[in-house]
Amino acid sequence: MEKNLRKESVCVQGGWTPKNGEPRVLPIYQSTTFKYDDSDQMARLFDLKDTGYFYTRLQNPTNDAVAAKIATLEGGAGAMLTSSGQAANFYAVFNICEAGDHFVASNTIYGGTFNLFGVTMKKLGIECTFVDPDWDDERIEAAFRPNTKCFFGETISNPGGHVFDIERFARMAHRHGVPLIVDNTFATPINCRPFEWGADIVTHSTTKYMDGHATSVGGAIVDSGNFDWLAHADKFPGLCQPDESYHGLTYATAFGKMAYITKATAQLMRDLGSIPSPFNCFLLNLGLETLHLRVKRHCENAQAVAEYLERNERVAWVNYCGLKNNKYYELGQKYLPNGSCGVIAFGLKGTKEDAVRFMDSLKMIAIVTHVADARTCVLHPASHTHRQLSDEQLREAGVAPDLIRLSVGIENVKDIIEDIQQALDASK
Ligand SMILES: *Cc1c(COP(=O)(O)O)cnc(C)c1O
Repeated sequence: MEKNLRKESVCVQGGWTPKNGEPRVLPIYQSTTFKYDDSDQMARLFDLKDTGYFYTRLQNPTNDAVAAKIATLEGGAGAMLTSSGQAANFYAVFNICEAGDHFVASNTIYGGTFNLFGVTMKKLGIECTFVDPDWDDERIEAAFRPNTKCFFGETISNPGGHVFDIERFARMAHRHGVPLIVDNTFATPINCRPFEWGADIVTHSTTKYMDGHATSVGGAIVDSGNFDWLAHADKFPGLCQPDESYHGLTYATAFGKMAYITKATAQLMRDLGSIPSPFNCFLLNLGLETLHLRVKRHCENAQAVAEYLERNERVAWVNYCGLKNNKYYELGQKYLPNGSCGVIAFGLKGTKEDAVRFMDSLKMIAIVTHVADARTCVLHPASHTHRQLSDEQLREAGVAPDLIRLSVGIENVKDIIEDIQQALDASK
């Protein structure tokens, strides 16, 4: 059904098409296991010869409906949900990289992902080279090696707000015979669909705008189905050679466009777990039903708040790609013509302590370690997430000591601006 529907309609109705007499609303299949009449039916499922449910770590009808909705929203061939965005990014890379392999990532990415790639995956024998997306092609391509397996970036980086030139990085990745993986958390498929610009795989922390209400941590991996694994069979033995742990089946030949997601489910989920609960998927689905409305409002409010901050004499700088003088304005117009996201980075004139006093004076806007939910919230990395670092170390990590990350919610924008104004006045 949903193949022909527009994005807004997919948000509301995608993934779950009830048959006659079935529940109108996606049911929560809160069951670990599924019943079959004879053992041969179950055996065929284990051989991947039939499709069907047997154990929720591998597949669950509630989870699958939500995965299908997200796959359709992104224009992908298939998707797999995970229990967090961290798990999604780990699996997305680990599905095609093993010990001895290497990959390249943009250095302007979420801190948790930066640590996963630079520290934890290194312990698994997988090395990541970080590149500055502002470098020219030649300098970036110098990072590719014969054992490089993918390139990774974020559509809009958290917290810096850098816009990733997807088309350019897809071209570079493909020149080296590897897929481009894009974390599309902040843009969401409402504002950007990376597959339309040549990306091969998309990941999400669904914890953010997709859930949108700050109720459930979760993640998703979506495959476009476009990358030709068999054309680079030597690089991707995991997809192009028989999997001895799955009856000698070769994913790329057996599953075509579904090879990557099938391998991620049948191998990584089977062995490593970290599935979302059906209940969390139900909540995620409720969030997705209004994603198109909320994202639009987040962007309208953030644009107004960014313009207000830019005019304010107490504000030293504002980074939001919707502002005309922003470094990423042109890229934003290309990839995010209908709006980017609700997250703004800005700095106040004065010291780190001035930033803290301002935040402590906010009334409606709360200080929380979160972004991208309905409620406006604020975080000061220098005194929260990155508090162990000196000012110099902060700058090295790309976080200005005065950087305040403001996640603009969907309240009335006048109340948001009035709260900021009174906090500026109170903290003078
Ligand atoms: C939050 C976030 C993650 C990590 O997601 P969790 O759901 O918190 O595990 C990854 N990427 C981006 C861009 C994020 O904002």
